[in-house]
Formats: sequence, C-alpha cells, structure tokens
Amino acid sequence: MAADDVREIRQHLDKTGCPVCSRVKKCQSDLLGGDSIADAPGLCNFHAWALAKSAPAASAAGVFLSALRQARGDDLCPFCSRLSEMEGQSLAALGRLLAQPKDREWMHHYGHLCLAHARKLEAIMDDQGKKTIREILQRTRSELEQELAKLLRVSGEPDPSGGGVLGRAAEFLALQRGLGNLNGVAGNRK
Ligand SMILES: [Zn+2]
Ligand SMILES: [Zn+2]
Repeated sequence: MAADDVREIRQHLDKTGCPVCSRVKKCQSDLLGGDSIADAPGLCNFHAWALAKSAPAASAAGVFLSALRQARGDDLCPFCSRLSEMEGQSLAALGRLLAQPKDREWMHHYGHLCLAHARKLEAIMDDQGKKTIREILQRTRSELEQELAKLLRVSGEPDPSGGGVLGRAAEFLALQRGLGNLNGVAGNRK
C-alpha cells in the first residue's frame, strides 16, 4: 500500500546513502536468506552466484532444484523481477515523501541519492522536486570528492576507515545494485 511504502522508505533515510538502494539491498538479502522464492524459471549470473556463495544451503538448494527442472537458459530471474518491482515501489514512495515539505527539507540538507536513482526519480518529480534532487546530487558529489581526495593522500597501507567512503562512492556511481543482469536477461526474452 502506498502509505506503507512511504513509511517503509522513510525508515531507510540516513545520512550516508541512497534510501532506494538501501531498501532494495535489504529486500535482496531477505530474498536470498529466506525461502519466499519457490519458483525459479531461471537465474541471472549475479543471483545464481549469490545463492551459491552466501544463501543458507537449504534455501539455495530449493531455488536451484526449481531452476534445474524448468530453466531453458533464457528466462527471467525471479530475484531480479522482485527487486525491480521493489525498486519501482521505492522510487514512487520516495517521490511522494519528497513532496512533503518536512521530508524534502531533511533530504535537502542530509539525504543522499545515487546517480541512477536520482535520474529515475527526476523523471517523476515536478520542477521543485527536480531542483531538490539536483541539489542533493551536488552536495553528495562534493562530499564524496573531498573524502576521496583525503583518501588519496593516505600513503602506504589502505586506510581502514576508507572502506566507508569507497563503499559510498561505489553506491553513488554504480548503475544498479544487485540488478546488474536485469536488462540483459529481460532483453533475451524477445
Ligand atoms: Zn540508489
Ligand atoms: Zn537476478
């Protein structure tokens, strides 16, 4: 439901990263760690290996058995489909949240968006919303630039505190998170 989605996305607002990425990532780890995907007509590269490497053995075995029995090699990955749905819902919810003055004010001062989600969000926002998104991106870019430049000056061993900055820069720049094969897989269905 729309109101639940707004409440849910609000819980992913923090001062370090994109709330849409955060919610999709949480959804992905719930899906990989649980047993809600019972029917897998196919698997993308990313999710096949994520299951093999990190899911509980019984969940992974169940998904693989389902895929073994029906996959022909060109079918849509159910993890990608669910995450794509979650991404769409989250973007719509964030759009509604940004239309509320108090939340927009908070995002404007403290919030972050990755480039990919900012671009998608911009497409559904009014002029004021678009302006807020551009300002959030501008602030995020300059914060990341400063922190990365600081990291460059650290010589020798990697700075253990650098992991956080590098992770945030990766999130900001990566086109999609955990959905890398979505377009390729969907494209194969023609
Ligand atoms: Zn994002
Ligand atoms: Zn997938």
